[in-house]
Amino acid sequence: MRTWEQTVSHGLRALGLESIRNKLLAFAVLATLIPSLSTAWVAYAHSQRSLTEKITGEQQSLSSQASRELDLWLKERLYDLRVFASSYEVSENLEKIPLTGGEPVREGRAYGRLRDYLNSVRDRFADYDELIVLDSSARVVATSASDARALALPPDWLHAIKTDNAFVGEPYRDDVTRKPEMIVAVPIYPSNGRLIGALTAKLNLRAVQQIIRRFATNGLGGIVVVTADGTLLASSGAGGAAPMTVQLPAESVRLLSDRAGSAQRYLGFDGEEVVGTLQRVPRLGWGVVAEIPAEAAYRQVIRLRNLTVLIVAALLLGVGLLAYLLGVLIVRPLDRLTAGAAKVAAGDLAVDLPVVSGGEVGSLTEVFNDMVARLRDGRRELEHRSLTDDLTGLYNRRYLMETLANEIRRSRRLEHCCALLMADIDHFKEYNDAFGHLAGDEMLIKVARALHESTREVDSVARYGGEEFVVLLPETAAEQAAETAERIRARVAAEALAGGTITLSVGIAAFPAHGDSPESMIAAADRALYRAKREGRNRVAHASVAAKSASQH
Ligand code: GH3
Ligand code: MG
Ligand code: MG
Repeated sequence: MRTWEQTVSHGLRALGLESIRNKLLAFAVLATLIPSLSTAWVAYAHSQRSLTEKITGEQQSLSSQASRELDLWLKERLYDLRVFASSYEVSENLEKIPLTGGEPVREGRAYGRLRDYLNSVRDRFADYDELIVLDSSARVVATSASDARALALPPDWLHAIKTDNAFVGEPYRDDVTRKPEMIVAVPIYPSNGRLIGALTAKLNLRAVQQIIRRFATNGLGGIVVVTADGTLLASSGAGGAAPMTVQLPAESVRLLSDRAGSAQRYLGFDGEEVVGTLQRVPRLGWGVVAEIPAEAAYRQVIRLRNLTVLIVAALLLGVGLLAYLLGVLIVRPLDRLTAGAAKVAAGDLAVDLPVVSGGEVGSLTEVFNDMVARLRDGRRELEHRSLTDDLTGLYNRRYLMETLANEIRRSRRLEHCCALLMADIDHFKEYNDAFGHLAGDEMLIKVARALHESTREVDSVARYGGEEFVVLLPETAAEQAAETAERIRARVAAEALAGGTITLSVGIAAFPAHGDSPESMIAAADRALYRAKREGRNRVAHASVAAKSASQH
């Protein structure tokens, strides 16, 4: 069963986030990204929505206004046509024109008058390219144009005239003038009320363009008028494609028609994305679209988005840098601790880490330094104890032998001299027996102190055995050694003790005269000591036989 800590650690390892530095970095990045991106997203969605609402509002009012104007324009044109159609000049002359072989006779007085009337109307009203009088079978009876061409009318045109009192055709592009046109027709009723024909006009659509031009908006967007299938009829902007030459993509037309009255995003005539709102012109079936390039419409939102991205990137950089620095600040002392611990583990206790920071890592470093200092003290103590004698505090035999070996090597190299004293307490056994072992120990301590105080800093005083002491005197010739030995002997002899006086016998050996190795020097001193004992104790004896004889005091 895994603990939660293990599970989390496992997951972090899988993500490559094992080190403190990486964890900090990942945390900083997430802590920056999550709040800033979610806030930015909410702000972006909100501003996009409110902007769309604003655009819809503006475009709705614009397109419905334009649509009303176009409706009004058509009504006026139909009204005009009806007024012309109700003229006696039209109905009376039409009735008088006979048919021969199923075709109206285009000559004679009545025909002439009818044609003159049509011409006069066309000349006065610029909206009409051509005025035509048709009989009830759609035959051209008279026209304002130079030649009478049959009109392509849908089969239900007569029905439309009868029921709606007008026929309104689809816009088309005239083959000759290359201008957009549209056919409209109104019925001709004589006084008896029977339908005898239709006054038909080819309306040019210049007026549509002029009406739309008035809605030219502040340069951000504009208005276009399209037929039911999305063919361009007019646009408020200058330039652009000619009417009836371009068409909106079918998908755009469908979208705009399905959601008429609300702003949509779609592909415009030139394939660019635009935002527009469509309004139908009732009778014409055309669509009036107020539109604006999407880029311009959402410029504010796009700017907001870009600014957000910039700010988030800057934040990430700043926070990432801070996290990295923090990681370094935490990790460096830890690295130092690890290196320090490795050194200690390898036996090097000369470690003292700098405590640069407070907090947990700082405390850990202090504790570590304390621990190493204690280890150092312990080792020093251990070393000291391994080199000294417990009872007297003098050096022990081991230390003496090492120092002696070094001193002999040094003296040999420099061709200097050195000397060795070996001292033994006289009749110590008896002293022990008389005063007890503890008193004997105290005596040993006193003798040790006397030895220490009678020698120089550079001399090494050691307890060689039970009550035997050795003094190593560097840079000392036999004569000076004898002086020191004598001083020691005299001092011990003068020491007042509970059980009377105690004395020392001392043997002297000098390098290189009496030996050139630790062992031979010790042996020479020992021999001299033995002689001092033999010659009566409490005296100093030289190693060589030729040297001064022992003196008794
Ligand atoms: P000599 O003059 O010939 O040296 O006579 P001695 O009695 O001193 O003879 P020896 O050197 O053989 O005897 C050493 C005695 O020192 C034996 C032992 O009781 C005593 N001794 C050795 N070490 C200690 C010690 O640590 N404490 C005490 N109190 N006595 C010790
Ligand atoms: Mg002895
Ligand atoms: Mg003795």
